[in-house]
Amino acid sequence: MVKTGNQIVGVWPLAGFDKILHYRVPEHLAGKIPAGALVKVPVGHRFTLAVVYRVDVKADVPESRLKSIVEAIYPMPVLTPDMVNLINWMVSYYGCKRESIIEAMIPSAVRLGKSALMEKTLSVAKKLKKEELAQLEKRAPAQYKVYQFLLQERNPLKKGVVIGQLKTSAAVIKSLVEKGIIAEEAERAERVAYDDEFSKGEHVSSQAITLNEEQRSAVESVNKSLDEAAFVVHLLQGVTGSGKTEVYLNALQKALDMGGSVIFLVPEVALTPQTVGRLRSKLLEQGTNKVVVWHSLLSDGERLDGWLALARGEARVVVGARSAIFAPLQNVKLIIVDEEHEPAYKQDEQPRYHGRDVAVYRAMLNKAVCLLGSATPSLESHLNVTNGKYLVNHLTKRVDDRKLPLIHVVDMRREIMKRRGLLTISDFLAEKIRERHEKREQIILFINRRGYSKSMICQECGYVAECRHCSVAMTYHRTDDCLHCHMCGAEKKAPYHCPECKSDAIRRRGIGTQKVEEVVQQIVPSARIVRMDADAMRKKNLFREILGDFRTGKIDILVGTQMLAKGLDFPNVTLVGLVDADISLHTPDFRANERTFQLMVQVAGRSGRGDLSGEVVVQTFTPHAMPIQFGRQADVVGFSEEEMSIRREFRYPPYRHLVQHLIRGPNPDKVSFLAEQWAKKVTAAIAEQSLDVELRGPVPCAIEKIKDSYRFQIWYFTNQVTRLVALLSELQKDFIWSDDVTHVLDVDPSNVG
Ligand code: ADP
Ligand code: ZN
Ligand code: ZN
Repeated sequence: MVKTGNQIVGVWPLAGFDKILHYRVPEHLAGKIPAGALVKVPVGHRFTLAVVYRVDVKADVPESRLKSIVEAIYPMPVLTPDMVNLINWMVSYYGCKRESIIEAMIPSAVRLGKSALMEKTLSVAKKLKKEELAQLEKRAPAQYKVYQFLLQERNPLKKGVVIGQLKTSAAVIKSLVEKGIIAEEAERAERVAYDDEFSKGEHVSSQAITLNEEQRSAVESVNKSLDEAAFVVHLLQGVTGSGKTEVYLNALQKALDMGGSVIFLVPEVALTPQTVGRLRSKLLEQGTNKVVVWHSLLSDGERLDGWLALARGEARVVVGARSAIFAPLQNVKLIIVDEEHEPAYKQDEQPRYHGRDVAVYRAMLNKAVCLLGSATPSLESHLNVTNGKYLVNHLTKRVDDRKLPLIHVVDMRREIMKRRGLLTISDFLAEKIRERHEKREQIILFINRRGYSKSMICQECGYVAECRHCSVAMTYHRTDDCLHCHMCGAEKKAPYHCPECKSDAIRRRGIGTQKVEEVVQQIVPSARIVRMDADAMRKKNLFREILGDFRTGKIDILVGTQMLAKGLDFPNVTLVGLVDADISLHTPDFRANERTFQLMVQVAGRSGRGDLSGEVVVQTFTPHAMPIQFGRQADVVGFSEEEMSIRREFRYPPYRHLVQHLIRGPNPDKVSFLAEQWAKKVTAAIAEQSLDVELRGPVPCAIEKIKDSYRFQIWYFTNQVTRLVALLSELQKDFIWSDDVTHVLDVDPSNVG
């Protein structure tokens, strides 16, 4: 007979199907299964792990038919209550799979129910009396041996060591533990991520800083919100070098003093070692607070350790890239998002979410303060300020009245005419490089990452070397004299003759980091130049070493992709060159203007941050383009107004949300046919439910083919995202996609086209 009246819980199984299941809590676990607990449950004839999302629910089947939870896997909840709500929201807003979010939130070691990475240790818990000891020796000699062995040790011994040396078994130890004679504890290997290397070697000034007037008033405004313990979003709009980080640190201190915890998001940890360094030294001054650094290069063990430190409340600050927004902190009072405009906050694979927007939502769930900062705020945040949803605090001046750098725009059309040919560095920029180098000042040169395409083209017939599997031009790499596809990694030997017309007039076109390095070395032969691009990024230490060498003056000139434009603070840099400002402008993305403007201002922000005043040279073939004109003046207000009027006209984001539906497969006709059918079905349903959704497409994507897969897209513009997502998943149920056609939704995509 099954007893009724047990507690019933709802769980999310981690078994590859998105369903909710109900279980009964058996007697021996009564009261021990909180929401967020990881448990083992029977499903069919098997067992699976599952996360409890709610306790005391009403089951959808008669109670007598419910199965029981088998065991609790982890000694504490693996999700905090706010994260359970966050998951529900993400599923309804982003339409992503619940399990993919859970995977992003909980380290794999925990999800698999393993605490294998933690060493168990053993020690004597209870000293046995003489007669007890005699009893044990007689009845359980194996246990007696273990007890005696541990008694001689002053420190806990590793379980593995005990078993190995005494040739005893885990069962023997288990009975001793159950009797309370010895204690088994989990000792973590000392590998804790908060002693992260990223910030080591980064010089961090320990001088106390007196906030200037603007900084003080920003801090006061944020602190006031913290005191009120209400959900408020602040946008800290401060020019480059205006001391935004100091404002973050003051607010952070306040939140910690109030007993809360803090999440600090940066676009990319490896690129912001200085921010991490300043944060750590600030917290170390207090001596008490540890900070967990969270990034993609952590090992499983490091990730587990960091996660545990946060879950247990041993650390109350996490700093990291977008996924740090899922850190298991309790009592979150402040969430900081530095460089909130950065596309890097958007995840382009499952679960597709925007780290900044999730940050705002998590702050809301916690009645916490969300502090967004940028010199060039996204237009989304701009509109939220205009609508009164966000409070704004301005920092209009660089610290110590340092000047913003002078920006020169070089018209490359004229340069090309002068030289009658392709050109990497204009005479003007070359002269500036020579000048600054002679004074032993430092230089950074940027090449737009997307512009890193040195393709090969035939001057006779116009043939362009394209990848066989992707509809993109291949990139020439000098290092191996090969053409590489940056989409799929394919490579082939660079041709000497055109494969189409056999002409030998096949030439390389466009410039890349390698070429710039080569040309600049000719301009200043004595300069020590280092190139820093995606290849250097793959090794975490190499990147740090380069930045370290640059800081200590061992390197004169850095040549890098635009990832370098983020947040670096080198006082001796007085010249920054943007070698090719155009490529981001000519992408088929409605944010092309915004990206170009932001790039220009951010790049300029790296110059003249110390006592020496700085200069910036921007090379472009379209000097009159709107973002370049505003960028030249670093005129954020002017740019935003102009660009907003364009967006308003087309009702593009931020006026409406964009949901992109990507449909792809190996057979283009099939993909296109199914996409058409789907679009018809959706159009009809939208009309029927009178949803405010505008559907466009299907059309082929700008890159029509990647890895032999043909890509079509449908765009939905709407301000009813959740309703649309619900409708689409409802329609999915009786629409038959083909096996070789996949489709994926991307809500608020950051790269479109
Ligand atoms: P931002 O993030 O706005 O570009 P940072 O926060 O990196 O600017 O600050 C730039 C530099 O100015 C840093 O080296 C920082 O230590 C320094 N700084 C910040 N605030 C002050 C201040 N009130 N007085 C003096 N120096 C400051
Ligand atoms: Zn040819
Ligand atoms: Zn390819």
